[in-house]
Amino acid sequence: VNALSSVSEIATPSLENPVRLNFNENALGMSPNAKQAAITAVSKANRYAKHEMPLLSLAIAKHHNLNSDYVLLTAGSSEGIRSSIVAFTKEKTQFVIPELTYGDGEYFAKIANLPVIKVPNLTDWAIDIEGLINKVEQYSGYSIVYLVNPNNPTSTITDTKKVFDWIRSKPKNTIFIVDEAYAEFVNDASYQSVDTLIEQGYENVILLKTFSKIHAMAGLRVGYVLANPIHIKNIAQYVAGEKLNYCGVCAALASMEDQSYLKYSKKVTDTSRLIMEQVLKELDLYYVASETNFIFHKIPIALNEYQQLLKDKFILVGRAFPPANGWCRISLGTPGEMLYTATILKQLREQNFI
Ligand code: PLP
Repeated sequence: VNALSSVSEIATPSLENPVRLNFNENALGMSPNAKQAAITAVSKANRYAKHEMPLLSLAIAKHHNLNSDYVLLTAGSSEGIRSSIVAFTKEKTQFVIPELTYGDGEYFAKIANLPVIKVPNLTDWAIDIEGLINKVEQYSGYSIVYLVNPNNPTSTITDTKKVFDWIRSKPKNTIFIVDEAYAEFVNDASYQSVDTLIEQGYENVILLKTFSKIHAMAGLRVGYVLANPIHIKNIAQYVAGEKLNYCGVCAALASMEDQSYLKYSKKVTDTSRLIMEQVLKELDLYYVASETNFIFHKIPIALNEYQQLLKDKFILVGRAFPPANGWCRISLGTPGEMLYTATILKQLREQNFI
């Protein structure tokens, strides 16, 4: 892979080809090996991935120092969120979340007819673990706690010790669904995946992972659930994942083997983050420290106006995330895309629009 210069230049953005900073995708694109694996797989895609799926499960299991019976492949982590919520829904179950977090949990919980209990976030949108603990303790029924770490749209991490202590305390009638879609982007050395707890035998925690982010495979729809085998069979009843996308499975296998590309992907994201942080500082727009491939920052005008000003320059940014009014989520594109975005933001400031 070439030096960062290769991603510092971009084609001129246009209406047809805008800079897409709105869905936390990975602008770098897939590992060349993964791309080739997907292309090769197309010619075999008249078949089911019966041979390749167990290979992918095994590679994932090894990556987490576990056996493949801890792994359930899913069509992206969205399918993992939905299926695990359905699997743990029984009579008198509440769904407990921070108020500002990834929306799919609430979306699928409501479809499953669960009451959704929201705990307001703290300063800088930090997740209030004590508040969540209280909601669980106050309830006489069963609780599903959905924790996104790092969180979306805030880009922040929750203290590993707090999360681990709570899970290790084994609160009764409680299952933790931990979504670590963005974990590979984290720089904070204190951050740990809950895979450690699963490895240590904890049965009250389910980990959800995706190939959509660091692996840049959002359109190929591959993810997985990692949990004690006692749960995997249960959750498996609610996925159609026994038959996964053939090209996606082959690409995921190749991507996992391409560690140097994954490192490169993180490095490019770090560079893009620096560019964005620098312009936000220069323009005195407050942001929370990002541990992901997106930045959550304050905006001086209404979000729809901010979105439109940037859209006029062919830059698409994040949607509204109530209750965070006056904030905008910008996904990190390539360094070239971020340099372009920085230039536009500075122009908008000079013109007194922002
Ligand atoms: N979880 C989180 C925290 C996300 O931000 C996203 C997508 O943005 C997903 C899960 C779902 O992604 P996918 O279904 O592509 O794995």
